[in-house]
Amino acid sequence: MSELWVHTLTWADVDPARCPFELDDAAAKELTALVAPLLPGAEVVQDDRWGSMDPVTSFLVGRYGRWACGWNWSVGEGDIDGGVVQAWCCASHSVTTEEATAPLVVAALLEWRGWLEDLAERFSALAPPAQPAGQAVDPWHWERACTRLVTAVADRTEAESGWYGHCMQVLGWFLAYNGIDEERAQQIAETAVGGRFDSWIAPAVTVVDEVSSGFARTIGESR
Ligand SMILES: [Zn+2]
Repeated sequence: MSELWVHTLTWADVDPARCPFELDDAAAKELTALVAPLLPGAEVVQDDRWGSMDPVTSFLVGRYGRWACGWNWSVGEGDIDGGVVQAWCCASHSVTTEEATAPLVVAALLEWRGWLEDLAERFSALAPPAQPAGQAVDPWHWERACTRLVTAVADRTEAESGWYGHCMQVLGWFLAYNGIDEERAQQIAETAVGGRFDSWIAPAVTVVDEVSSGFARTIGESR
């Protein structure tokens, strides 16, 4: 099931520019009808909620690409943990009848996609300017980007549960967007955060400043 695992999504997997997606009203209706028969019964998820949405997730991934596996990465303790989606809570709270539940899946997918598009816009606005060969980027650019992105993710996840997992992932995605190898990018993000963020609490400004300067420093050392 690893291809359904949101924590391993790379920027290449989710970059909206590389994964085109359009869903007009007719296509949304069609998708709703395709999702409905894949839903578990409400009585099933009360007993066994874990993995009960996998058939839906597999279908969405097969149809749209790996990015779509984040459709139910909801805020707080949901099917996954510490995500951004509001339209879906978790299988045991969100699954009722097919007619009511299938549109929620589509709304959740659109919400997740909207977040990825929002991130791509932020990345573009925060990317350091191109430098002449041999010149390092002013660390101020990396610090500013880190502060803005941490704030955006804390806000969007409402800093609920293990929100910082997605936060580190987004920082890594930003570095990958700027041409740093994906694996190295995730390492830099994790080193910079270094366990300074806690569950269920938005970080204090001083902590964000510390993480942002560590982020800039680690990038500087790795180039
Ligand atoms: Zn729930």
